[in-house]
Amino acid sequence: MLLRHTTSEVKERKALTVNPAKTCQPVGAMYAALGVHGCLPHSHGSQGCCSYHRSALTRHYKEPVMAATSSFTEGSSVFGGQANLLQAIDNIFTIYDPDIIAVHSTCLSETIGDDLGQIVKKALDDGKIPEGKFVVQASTPSYVGSHVTGYANMLEAFVKYFSYNTNEKIRQVNMLSGWVEPSDMRELKRIAGLMKIKTVLLPDTSDVVDTPMDGTYKMYPKGGTTREEIVSMGNSMKTVAMGEWATQKAAIMLDNKCKVPFSMTDVPIGLRATDRFIQALSTAGKVSIPECISEERGKLVDVITDMHQYLYGKRVALWGDPDTILPLIEFLVDMDMKPVYVVSGTPGKKFSKLAMDILEEKVPEAKVRNGASADMFLMHQWIKEEPVDLLIGNTYGKYIARDEGIPFVRSGFPIIDRIGHSYFPTVGYMGGIRLLESILGAIMDKIDATAPEESFELVM
Ligand code: SF4
Repeated sequence: MLLRHTTSEVKERKALTVNPAKTCQPVGAMYAALGVHGCLPHSHGSQGCCSYHRSALTRHYKEPVMAATSSFTEGSSVFGGQANLLQAIDNIFTIYDPDIIAVHSTCLSETIGDDLGQIVKKALDDGKIPEGKFVVQASTPSYVGSHVTGYANMLEAFVKYFSYNTNEKIRQVNMLSGWVEPSDMRELKRIAGLMKIKTVLLPDTSDVVDTPMDGTYKMYPKGGTTREEIVSMGNSMKTVAMGEWATQKAAIMLDNKCKVPFSMTDVPIGLRATDRFIQALSTAGKVSIPECISEERGKLVDVITDMHQYLYGKRVALWGDPDTILPLIEFLVDMDMKPVYVVSGTPGKKFSKLAMDILEEKVPEAKVRNGASADMFLMHQWIKEEPVDLLIGNTYGKYIARDEGIPFVRSGFPIIDRIGHSYFPTVGYMGGIRLLESILGAIMDKIDATAPEESFELVM
C-alpha cells in the first residue's frame, strides 16, 4: 500500500499539486532539439536543471542524452547569465563541434530576466559562432505550461530561425509532429512513403534516441531533421500539423513567415484520428489514398471487431499529454470502452471541452480535468470513489495499479520501467493494432489471473 494516505473524499485544492501529471518545459525543448540533426541542446540555467532534464529523457529512451548547460552559480543568479552563455557557446563549438546549439531557458534564467535573443546576438557579434554554425534560442520558463509547451516553443524557434521562402514552391509537405516516440516518427515517414509524398518531418528523433549498438559512440547520430530540410520547409506546398498543443505555434509561424498554409489534425492515434491524418496528408500532397493504406485500415477494423466483446463497457482511467490523450479517448469510445477519468497536467482551456465533445454522448458521466489541479492524487481519489477496469498512462501510474490491482498499459511520457515504446509505434493503423494488443493483453491477463477454475479459458 504505497499510496495508503490517498482518501476517496475529494477536496478542492487551489494551491497544491500532488504528483503532477506533467513535467517541465525544458524537457520538451530538449527532446525537440534532439530531433534536429547535429544539434546539441543547451540549458541556460543551473546544472541541476540540466541534469534532471537529461536524466528524464535518458531514463525514458535508455540512450545517453547529451546536453550542455550554462552552469549558473550564485554570481550568475545575481548578475545574470550572459557571461556564462557566451563562454559556453565558445566552448561547445570548440570542443563538441555541433552544427547547431539549441538554447532554452529555465525558471532561474527567466526569473532574473536574461534576454536569450540579445545574448545570442552578442555571441554572433563577438565572433563566437563560427561560419556555417548556428545558435537557436527558445524561451521556456517552467512555471508556466508543461514539457509540451517547451516542445512547442522549440519547434517554433527552429522554423522561425531557419525556414525561408524563396518563392520557389517545391512539391513537398511539411509534417510537424506532436510529442511522440521515435518509433512513431519512423511510422509517420513510412506512411508518407506509402502515399508517395515527399515530406519533411520536424522534429525527427528516429535514429537519434533509438540508435543501434555498433561499438562506436556517436555524439550526433545519423537521424534528425537536417538544417537544409528545415530551410526548405518555407517552400513547401502545405504543412500538416499533428497535435495543437505541440505544433500549432510552429505551423502558424510557417504560415506567417513563409506563407505555407497548414491543416491542423490530431496525432494519428486510433482509427478516426488516423483517418483524418491520412486524409489531410492526401489533400496536402494532392495524391489519392493507396490500396495498401486501406488494407492496413481494414486490418485494424478487423481486430476491433473480433475483440469487441472483451472491450465493451470497460471503464478506463487515463492521463498524459493533450495531443495524445484526445485521440486516445476517441479510440476507446469508438471501441465502446468508457474513458471515465481523464487527467492532463498540461494547461489549456480547450482541453476539457474537446474531451467532453468526444465523451458526452457515450460516456456522459466522465470526469475530465487539466492544468495545475489535475494530478495523479486526484486521479487516484476518483478511482477510489468508483474503480476502473484499466489504467492507461505513464510509469507513475504503477503505484495506483499496484495498490488497487488494476491492469495497466504504459503510454506517454515518461515510461521508465519498461521498454518497447522506442521500437513499436502506436500511431497509424498498424500502431492502433499494437495499442489494442497492449490493452487486450492487460485485460486478458487480469481475467486469467482471477477467473475461477471452472471458467478459466484456454481460447480467447
Ligand atoms: S521546473 Fe524549473 S527549476 Fe525545476 S528543473 Fe525545471 S527548469 Fe529547472
